[in-house]
Amino acid sequence: MTALPASREDSLAMPLAATSSARRQARQICDGCQRPLRACLCSFVPATKIRVGAGGFESIHGIIVYVHPLEKKRTFRSCPLLQMCVEGVHAIETRRPVVPSPPPPSPLLIYRTDTSRPLSSVLPSLSFPVTLVALDGTWQHTKEMYRAAPWLADLPAVHLDASETKGYFCDVRHAPLELVELGAVSTAEAVACVVSGMGRWLSDEAVSRCDEVVGRLLQGVGDMQERAKTEEKDKGREGRAVCDHEGDDGW
Ligand SMILES: [Zn+2]
Repeated sequence: MTALPASREDSLAMPLAATSSARRQARQICDGCQRPLRACLCSFVPATKIRVGAGGFESIHGIIVYVHPLEKKRTFRSCPLLQMCVEGVHAIETRRPVVPSPPPPSPLLIYRTDTSRPLSSVLPSLSFPVTLVALDGTWQHTKEMYRAAPWLADLPAVHLDASETKGYFCDVRHAPLELVELGAVSTAEAVACVVSGMGRWLSDEAVSRCDEVVGRLLQGVGDMQERAKTEEKDKGREGRAVCDHEGDDGW
């Protein structure tokens, strides 16, 4: 192997040092949200979480979210974002949800099925406290989880109409258009909207703001991802400009 002249070695070492420093910076973790500092979410997270269950909004006994195992691979996952804003969310990682033991009071599934009803039409007939049950994964994965657990079909199910949601996360996690038109949103937003709906129904002002609190965080994540995309595009343009320039030099 031929040794490079010193000046050439230097020119290679500089960008490498700069890259590793940038990597070190990117690896620094925020003490608050446990995310890399560059992607810190603390400014979007409420100082006090909305609490459901004992010691909080007791009309909701608890929230069970069955999370598909492949969700772990995603940078921004819906359930942890929900847990940053709401206390009393129990996440269970599985492809095949099983009946909780002991059975929680009045489970209510948040999922659009052939027999699900809009939340607004179900509220008057609900017997509180209820336990909210949700499925978290891609649209395809939640469908598979629902099919793998026939007991879920026996639960009363509610869905949200498009007018009741904002679809924050759909900008980030593109859902099929026909589902978006029906009001399909991320698990975090769906659960937050149901919690808010119940808060409004039972005149609990703090709980009725759950959709705003979670929405602010989802909006923050969406904006952060948009900025990252723009930066990547800019870097790509700069890279192409350098290449073009180097090409000119070569000629
Ligand atoms: Zn943070």
